Amino acid sequence: MVRIRSRSIMKRASIILLLLAWGVALPSPASADLNVFACEPEWATLAREVGGEKVNAYSATHAQQDPHHIRAKPSLIARIRRADLVFCSGADLEVGWLPLLMQRGARAGVQPGTTGYIMAAEHVPVLEKPTVIDRSLGDIHPGGNPHVHLNPENIMIIASVLGKRMIAIDPENAAYYRKRLAAFNASWRRAIEDWDNRVTKLAGMPVIVHHKSFSYLFDWMGLNQIATLEVKPGIPPTASHLNGLLRKVRSSNVRAIVRAPYDPSDGSNWLSSKTGIRQIELPYTVKRNAGPGALFNLFERTIELLEGANAGS
Ligand SMILES: [Zn+2]
Repeated sequence: MVRIRSRSIMKRASIILLLLAWGVALPSPASADLNVFACEPEWATLAREVGGEKVNAYSATHAQQDPHHIRAKPSLIARIRRADLVFCSGADLEVGWLPLLMQRGARAGVQPGTTGYIMAAEHVPVLEKPTVIDRSLGDIHPGGNPHVHLNPENIMIIASVLGKRMIAIDPENAAYYRKRLAAFNASWRRAIEDWDNRVTKLAGMPVIVHHKSFSYLFDWMGLNQIATLEVKPGIPPTASHLNGLLRKVRSSNVRAIVRAPYDPSDGSNWLSSKTGIRQIELPYTVKRNAGPGALFNLFERTIELLEGANAGS
């Protein structure tokens, strides 16, 4: 029995080798039609929401990585080479590494300005746009805040852009993408209605953040972001800046010092120990390989944590 089985496996293996020798492409296990190279996990997950089994989405970064700063590794060049769609935040979030990957590996169909190139920030209103751009100060948000995914209304806008692009690139599966996008939009709209009811109760809640990673979230929720631990976006806290904050928070009712999982904790530890204000780490994004439902859970968990901080529980 075992011998017969192993013989059939060998037979199958030799057929595969023969096909490979002839240059016949074997179907990938997922039989996906469209390869998405996402810069951040939230966009890979959104691609899986809209694209389902027709899409193979890869995220260049994971939830514990600061998307401002990663290395343009050869493995990422190999990944972007296969991409039919490059899907990132834009607004300079990936300026330190994406242009290099694009230059080294990306095909013509995913270059800037083509259907296969989506920068989320180009499709939603960008917050904190400076009136004067001055990179010399080390500001890593020279074109405004790039962390656009934490407003659920933005997610819906970008999902629709994504759906249209998927249909344009892979028209054979147009009906499939259209159906999934409609289903996602309907359930996301219901979720927003529920979240809107909850976040109304948090309006005006004063918070301090390490980096301006959550501006879109707080803008949507109506929270009052009174200061950042960073001197400017990308410039770490200094002793004099932190001492200045100490005076500021003593005169206001700050409910939480908020940071992302990849932010250094020393600044928030210091301020928390001096003031007794709780520090909370918000998830910021989803797991790298997260499937459908993860974006919903991201907002659920984030709101829960802020509700807890507001209630002092
Ligand atoms: Zn940033």
